[in-house]
This record gives sequence, C-alpha cells and structure tokens, in this order.
Amino acid sequence: MDGRELLQFCSNDYLGLANHPKLIAAMQDTAAQFGVGGGASHLVCGHSSYHHQLEERLAKITGRDRALLFSTGYMANLGTVTALLGKGDHILEDRLNHASLLDAGLLSGARFQRFQHNDMADLERRLRKLPADGNRLIVVDAVFSMDGDMAPLAELAALAQKYNAWLMADDAHGFGVLGESGAGCAEFFGLSQQELPVLMGTLGKGIGSFGAFVAGSEALIETLIQFARPYIYTTAMPPAVAAATIAGLNLLSEEPWRRQHLQELIGYFREQAQAFALPLMPSNTAIQPLLIGDEQAAMALSAALEQRGILVSAIRPPTVPVGSSRLRITLSAAHSKADIDCLLAALVEVLAA
Ligand code: PMP
Repeated sequence: MDGRELLQFCSNDYLGLANHPKLIAAMQDTAAQFGVGGGASHLVCGHSSYHHQLEERLAKITGRDRALLFSTGYMANLGTVTALLGKGDHILEDRLNHASLLDAGLLSGARFQRFQHNDMADLERRLRKLPADGNRLIVVDAVFSMDGDMAPLAELAALAQKYNAWLMADDAHGFGVLGESGAGCAEFFGLSQQELPVLMGTLGKGIGSFGAFVAGSEALIETLIQFARPYIYTTAMPPAVAAATIAGLNLLSEEPWRRQHLQELIGYFREQAQAFALPLMPSNTAIQPLLIGDEQAAMALSAALEQRGILVSAIRPPTVPVGSSRLRITLSAAHSKADIDCLLAALVEVLAA
C-alpha cells in the first residue's frame, strides 16, 4: 500500500491459490487463444467449452447431478432465490446470513422471516406456524462470513425434511476448504443432494479465481436456466477465468497440503491467541475475528496494525450488528507460522496500548 509492503490477514484466498503459477498460466494461455471478454451471456454465445467443462467438474466434485455457473456469488444468490420463490411462498433465513441472501429474500416477494442465529428451536417454532400453502425455503451461510462459525447443516436438513421445506446453503467460505477433499460443506457434513438440494458455492475465495455456481438436481438447474434473471441477463465469466478455475479445482487434489497447512495454522493461531487472552470468537474455520465492540476502537486497532506492517480490516455496522465491530482476521495456506507470530505480537502490542 502506497509503496509499503504489508503482511495481509483479510483476504478470502484461503488456500493461497490466487497467485498460483498454474492458475496464472491457465488464464494467460486461454486469454491468448480465446480473448479476454466473455462476449455475451451464456444463453447467447458466451458459454464456451471451458464453462461446460467447469460445470461438469463442479457437479462431480459436489456429488450433484448438475451445476450452473454464475458470474458472481451475489448474483447466484439473487438468481436462485428469486427463481425458486415468489408471492405466496415462504423464506426463512438465519439473521446473520450474507447480505446477498437477505437481499435475495426481499427481492423474491416471498414472506420473509429471519430466525435467531443457528437457533434450531426458533427456526422450528417458525416452521410449525407456517400456513400449509406455498413453497418453503430455508437458507443459511454454511460458514458465516463475518463470524467464521458454521451452520448446523445436518440439523437444518432434518428440520427441512420434517417441515417439507427446501434447504439452501451458501458455501462461499467452505468450498475448497471444508471436507476431506475440499468439496465443501456437503462433504463435511455428508449431505446428499436430497438432504441439501440447493448448494451454492463461490470460486473467488478458496479456489483463488472468480465467479460462483449452484449445484443440484436436473430440475433445479433447468429452473435456474429458465428463470434466474441474474444468470440470463448478464455477460458470462470470461473463458480464461473458467480455465483458471479448473486449474484451481485440480489443485484441490494435487496439493492437499494446502488444506492441512491451513488447519494447522488455525489451530496454532487459536492456541496462541487464547494464551494471550485475545478476544477470540468461537470459530474453527479460517475466519478468526477478534470482537472489539466499538466502531472507533476497531478502526483505531486496524490503523495501529497497519503502522506495524499488518493489514487487517475493521468490520463495522451495517455489515455486523451494532456494538459488535471486529477485526476480521482470515488465515491462508499462503501464511507461515512465523507470519502468525508477527500478527500475534502486533495484536498483543496494539491491544495493550
Ligand atoms: N455469499 C457469501 C457468504 C459471501 O461471503 C460472499 C462474498 N463476500 C458472497 C456470497 C458473494 O460472492 P461474490 O463475491 O462472488 O459475489
């Protein structure tokens, strides 16, 4: 920044793939052959063989019948919820869901309720009270973006079955990272397509590229192709991005050490932070926020860290509830233990000042 090199702990490049030579080469080679722009929407002529291959890979990895690419995760959420629900339907969302899911719920025109964060009793109470008519969709972040904790997806799937609702999980922060092979929340919880029928994932975080997808049944994907307006009326991601994403997916199995190393760093950070009595939040993922509370205090801490050569952004309302401003620390396989030691030393210093 401004000519200074900083040690960064706030990107979502959890596996350190965004700068991987294989992704860079795939993007460069494909751009040299196919050009830079996507040129048109998927349904016109923007859908290249790279997009096709990528969708097939995503379906296979997630264990779903089919997958559909979207140009961003925000659009995938808007498109999916609005295609599945309308007036007379019901949507129930965790109150800490990502803004794109909350916006999608509002835009859908369905009756919109937010349940208390990860509170299955509150959700069940609401499900029990729903009228018999209309479709029902329960929507959660698989890993909550600003807290780092996970949704209890097995319990959610059981409730969805019991009350005849569809379940949708946004796996933006789990895809590539969670599960034995990096296939994300469905693999981590062992949830089939029937149990978790609407699976959304992003490609700009763990996979190091850009874009998003929704995976599920033939019927789901056909419905999205016909009715998801943010799919239909936008330019397809460039083929070079699709090619780079395929390279990112290949690395999930080629370099499993990235996930292992990240897990080790998470354990190390939490152990050390606990020893220093830092205000950790209850998270076992790569998102390790420190709860500060006051907005100005969070901003001042972020600035003090920057002076010490460390970049961590302060997250404030309306992104998080009032009084819960925080430093959203994210760890990556690109970090070393020595990097974590630098972060911890700086945190101890600025928090004591
Ligand atoms: N869902 C969640 C949970 C996210 O954190 C994000 C990105 N911050 C998105 C969706 C949007 O994804 P994209 O950046 O690809 O639009």
